[in-house]
Amino acid sequence: SHFLQRIEKTDDQLNSFITVTAEQALIKADAADKARASGKAGKLTGIPLALKDIFCTQGVKTSCGSKMLDNFIAPYDATVVEKLSAAGTISLGKTNMDEFAMGSSNENSHYGAVKNPWDLSAVPGGSSGGSAAAVAAGLIPAAMGTDTGGSIRQPAAFCGITGLKPTYGRVSRYGMIAYASSLDQAGPMARTAEDCAHLMNVIAGHDVRDSTSVARGVPDYTETLNAPLSGLKIGLPTEYFGDGLDPEVEKAVRDAVKVYESLGASVRDVSLPHTHYAIPAYYVIAPAEASSNLSRFDGVRFGHRCDAPADLVDLYTRSRAEGFGEEVKRRILIGTHTLSEGFFDAYYTKAQQVRRLIRQDFLDAFEDVDVLMGPASPTPAFDLGAKKDPVSMYLQDIYTIAVNLAGIPGISVPAGFAGGRPVGLQILGTHFAEAQLLNVAHQFQ
Ligand code: GLN
Repeated sequence: SHFLQRIEKTDDQLNSFITVTAEQALIKADAADKARASGKAGKLTGIPLALKDIFCTQGVKTSCGSKMLDNFIAPYDATVVEKLSAAGTISLGKTNMDEFAMGSSNENSHYGAVKNPWDLSAVPGGSSGGSAAAVAAGLIPAAMGTDTGGSIRQPAAFCGITGLKPTYGRVSRYGMIAYASSLDQAGPMARTAEDCAHLMNVIAGHDVRDSTSVARGVPDYTETLNAPLSGLKIGLPTEYFGDGLDPEVEKAVRDAVKVYESLGASVRDVSLPHTHYAIPAYYVIAPAEASSNLSRFDGVRFGHRCDAPADLVDLYTRSRAEGFGEEVKRRILIGTHTLSEGFFDAYYTKAQQVRRLIRQDFLDAFEDVDVLMGPASPTPAFDLGAKKDPVSMYLQDIYTIAVNLAGIPGISVPAGFAGGRPVGLQILGTHFAEAQLLNVAHQFQ
């Protein structure tokens, strides 16, 4: 009730929720109270949280931030949703996001921009901007996000909260509306690493319904939070401290690294030489996969359908023209172009080869160090409307995108302020190092 009242009172200003499911939540809260009274409560029974509107939620509108799915009531729960409710958590609603998770500012939503609770003239980051803003404003203790190229870590950084992108395959993607299937991964966004650890305990694990989810044991992520950090080897990628990095962000990150030194860690410079190819490679691979994934929205089976189509082609064409926003259309055009005959090898195959090199950069670095540290984003949150040119928006993700191409996990942790707006320290580990990232993040907090 406390959180529902806060949403009711505050969210007019932030616009962080697309749908609030108060009625269903109160019924579940009642059941949670009863479970607790009869001694049947689990660790997370009754804990309220929110879900990015990309997770299919049975009986609830699941819009993915798009007019295309404004009328879509999901007929089933995503695995993540199913697991969270089986653990007793209660969803209070679905959070705002960039349309189909394409964006870095949450300004691409059909439901309007989200505002940053630290400064209402700033963006909250994207695409999981609603989840980040809602947690930062205390409208909800935790929320689920997804990260294809930075969409958990960058909004977490902009809003001063903690956000973990797990290893690709650690969390099931079943029921999560697909953007770029080889990059998408769900993860927790909360105030602290400890809260994220509790959520990871619930959502991680193999799922027979997602063939890319990995059959590998899930540790108790809370058990190692307090492991000492003496002897930890930290690498600072020189490419993450170069041109374009805001000096105040750099200072906040370097100050955070000093805290780790005082905890017994050693620090050295490392190189990820292919970093500057990450954005171009991503903007071939992600739109290619998106153009294929989004072909299912054709006005026939679900989603927006145009009025009075003249014939089948008119139905497809107008339904898609009306249902998709500008950025989504741009990506579909790029993707269909790069996948077309005659261009496929030059763009898509080449981008996949570059991806391999980027992954190898990280694996080589992890031969020498345990974790990498750097900024989550080159600047703090920018003003709403400040980035009109799509390429300047794409460059926002310079420190986050390579991580998805490599499939490794990353976490953003609040580390001070620049120009009065929060800064995120990004910590990266090798595949399946989530427990270590949470441990390292927790020691800072
Ligand atoms: N900003 C990147 C994009 O627009 C990443 C988004 C994401 O991680 N979903 O594609």
